Amino acid sequence: MYNAIHIHFSLFSMQVFQHKADILPISLFVWYFICDFILYFSTPSITLLLVYVAISIIVKGFIGAWNHHHQHVLTFSSSFLNRMLEIMYGFQTGIIGYAWVLHHNLGHHMHYQDQSLDESAWKSPEWRRYGMLEYTWIVTTTAYARCWKVSGKYPLIRKKFIMMAAIQVILLLAIIAYKPLEGLLIFLLPMITGIFLGVHTTYTHHSGLETDDPYASSYNIVSKWYNIATGNLGYHTAHHLKWNLHWSKLPEFHKEIESKIDSKFYRTYNPFRFSESKTV
Ligand SMILES: [Zn+2]
Repeated sequence: MYNAIHIHFSLFSMQVFQHKADILPISLFVWYFICDFILYFSTPSITLLLVYVAISIIVKGFIGAWNHHHQHVLTFSSSFLNRMLEIMYGFQTGIIGYAWVLHHNLGHHMHYQDQSLDESAWKSPEWRRYGMLEYTWIVTTTAYARCWKVSGKYPLIRKKFIMMAAIQVILLLAIIAYKPLEGLLIFLLPMITGIFLGVHTTYTHHSGLETDDPYASSYNIVSKWYNIATGNLGYHTAHHLKWNLHWSKLPEFHKEIESKIDSKFYRTYNPFRFSESKTV
């Protein structure tokens, strides 16, 4: 009986999810989103609210990496569920439906080896390398303007981007209008910090590397905890070589190409500075 239920549930899950590995992280993020609303409706004390928000800013910063993965390989078989997930991710990370597609898939991935075209450029127009905070500020504050610029070449995606933006803004305004303090702290604040933290994480991936060689264009971070928290985003050379490979398969692909990556293209992740030390 238990086996029959288990098999039935597994089959159902696989019809809904495109990859089994997404079931656990997505379930956790949905529960986290429910917690946001429980707190929002329960009118908590200001102390509890501030502690929750402080923790949320860090947790949601990492959820940004999973939002990125979803934009490369869609999580669900159903497009309705994918759009629902993007609305949730929009609230958790500040990066709304199709923004990643425009800025990252079509902007960054297509041009990461050309700093004059890269939407996540680490080099200034005067060919100076930005510092970590300078890069974070510039790429974050120009992010949505760049999405709009890239969308000019893709009218169909522009329409979908506008639709998702309108839904997100209407929902956000309703949330803030109903309970302003909770709405601003639980939803709007992590959306703003989420974009900053998401952009900040990407500085380590390419800064200072300018070459046509895909094995020398990215830094890799192979530490276990960084890759658990980001869904293997540290296997960055592998990700750029096969951007449509599901995140769960990146470590395996990294092993295949490891011999072609020089040891100098490994970094440790330090959120406070750009580390020059390698880790393996
Ligand atoms: Zn990517």
